[in-house]
Amino acid sequence: MIDDDGHKSVLYPKEQSGPYQNRRTWIMSLLLVFYIAVPFIHINQKPMMLFNIPDRQFYLFGIAHTAQDAELLFFLMTGVAFVLVVATALFGRVWCGYVCPQTVFLDLIFRRIEKWIEGPASVRKRNDKLRHPPPDVRIRRYLKYIVFILMSFAIAFVMISYFIAPEKLLFKLIAVEFSASALFCLALTGIIFFDFVWFREQMCLIICPYGRLQSTLQDKDTIVIGYDESRGEPRGKLKDDARGACIDCGKCVQVCPTGIDIRNGLQMECIGCALCIDACNEIMTQVNQPLNLIRYDSQNRLQGQSGRRFLRPRVIIYAVLLLLGLTVMTITGLKRTDYEVAILRPQGKPFVVLRNEEEGHITVQNIANLHIVNKKEYSQIIQLEAVEKLGQAVIFSNQNVRVLPFSDATIPVIVQSRKDLAQDNYATIRISAGDDTDGHEIEIPLVGL
Ligand code: SF4
Ligand code: SF4
Repeated sequence: MIDDDGHKSVLYPKEQSGPYQNRRTWIMSLLLVFYIAVPFIHINQKPMMLFNIPDRQFYLFGIAHTAQDAELLFFLMTGVAFVLVVATALFGRVWCGYVCPQTVFLDLIFRRIEKWIEGPASVRKRNDKLRHPPPDVRIRRYLKYIVFILMSFAIAFVMISYFIAPEKLLFKLIAVEFSASALFCLALTGIIFFDFVWFREQMCLIICPYGRLQSTLQDKDTIVIGYDESRGEPRGKLKDDARGACIDCGKCVQVCPTGIDIRNGLQMECIGCALCIDACNEIMTQVNQPLNLIRYDSQNRLQGQSGRRFLRPRVIIYAVLLLLGLTVMTITGLKRTDYEVAILRPQGKPFVVLRNEEEGHITVQNIANLHIVNKKEYSQIIQLEAVEKLGQAVIFSNQNVRVLPFSDATIPVIVQSRKDLAQDNYATIRISAGDDTDGHEIEIPLVGL
């Protein structure tokens, strides 16, 4: 939270339990395990997910891909983005409150460690104000920093393991090999430590673009966390007979990790953590009032309108775009092959005319290069075979081309075509590999005929 002078004011959100927090803890715990486990899971001895950027290889669900499959990655990422967009239009900031790694790591790891070592928020607040804290407070603070550094390193290691195989990264770190990945791991440790020790909610408020986008993705039918003003106002102290349901205890503000007052309406800073719902429900129970003064609801309903439109134009448009992207991704995935062949024209003369003076006919000679990319993590023999055509001869420098894993090879092909016999202006090459004996055909366009 930023004060009026533009400085960060340290927040000490009070701990809060309740049904929503129990639900969040379960969901976030499963996600924490998922985030940490993914780089270590293998399917058929291949990484489940690995984005090896320097070598331009990536694995998705154990299937190897190369830079030639980048469109799949693009559709996957836009698909995830559109799922988020649809979820935001329907349910507000569920991503921030339940799924975002920043929230998951902060709430499940760092805040808990902080509480175990330094005590609850009220104790920490009091100790942090001391100009000369006693030795036990200082020891606890140093211990917290040491544990935070270790946790930051572990998270950095896991995050980089999405881009470099964890065993390789471990080897580089143990061997104190100052590779880019090892240095990046150490730098990331520092960034994560800074984030979770000091920066915290500012990541959501200042850096994350999604928080700023959310208002454009939502409308008044989106489910958000809101305060029922018609029921709560006028707020007043418990003994005040003329008050509404809100007893102005401030508990909803004290537990808020971004330091806002939800009673001021929907705000960009709200990360949808539902702590204020549990806090207010606890108070409502104590004062024998109906629950859910603060609750999940649409802005329209919080403002007294009945009913809720689930399918609105924006939801339908976002969902259609999502389905479109998924369809294109599925088709691209199904059409994907284990190797790719492209036709490249060599520089220089596009064709050569050969005259046979004895037989009195003309042959046109075209040269093309077949650029073969092996997208698999093992060597492949790519077989090339010409489809016979009258008056056409296709000469390969090699018809069984061994291409190394994630590598490419270029094979020159010469096509000689009798001008008087040519029926079309292309040569057809059948390409196959491994079990795929049928293969597929590509056409080399011929010029000069
Ligand atoms: S207003 Fe409520 S839901 Fe929003 S961040 Fe604060 S405590 Fe969480
Ligand atoms: S917790 Fe509920 S009763 Fe207390 S101030 Fe917030 S809205 Fe009012």
